[in-house]
Amino acid sequence: MLKTAKPETPTWALIAGAGLLDILFGLLVALGIEGLLPNWKSAHLLNIPWSHSLLMTILFGALFAVLFRRRGWGVMLVLFAAVLSHWVLDVLVHRPDMELWPNSATKLGYFSLFGPVSGWAETLLAIVATTVYAFRARKSETYGRYWIAVCGLMAVFWGMGYLAG
Ligand SMILES: [Zn+2]
Repeated sequence: MLKTAKPETPTWALIAGAGLLDILFGLLVALGIEGLLPNWKSAHLLNIPWSHSLLMTILFGALFAVLFRRRGWGVMLVLFAAVLSHWVLDVLVHRPDMELWPNSATKLGYFSLFGPVSGWAETLLAIVATTVYAFRARKSETYGRYWIAVCGLMAVFWGMGYLAG
């Protein structure tokens, strides 16, 4: 969808942008900064003030877009939207652990469609969706083959994060 809006946006960058927050989450868990809250067993809440708060998402989105400034404003906007879309979708599937800014009192995540496996479901959904999408985009696009690397990285980081948490 975003790809159609700005066809010159590299597919790998879109996928990386959409997965950016979870990649950061994996890194932060590995560093011991984020992870599961102590009441994970009963409430299944994640401690994600930095990788998944709205303010930081906007910041990461902007930083990510700036990396592609040579490709022009259109591409930057599309990539910014890709990073932001992750947050919007996460709010739909997470239990209320999505903050507005780091450690804000308001925590969003109303729907919790996947219950106790929300973390896993999110990753799985992301990997399946990006794989399907990239598989379709791959033929017309020189960068399409990077999808394997990006999906693999996402899976590895998340797996690391989950184990460390
Ligand atoms: Zn996420």
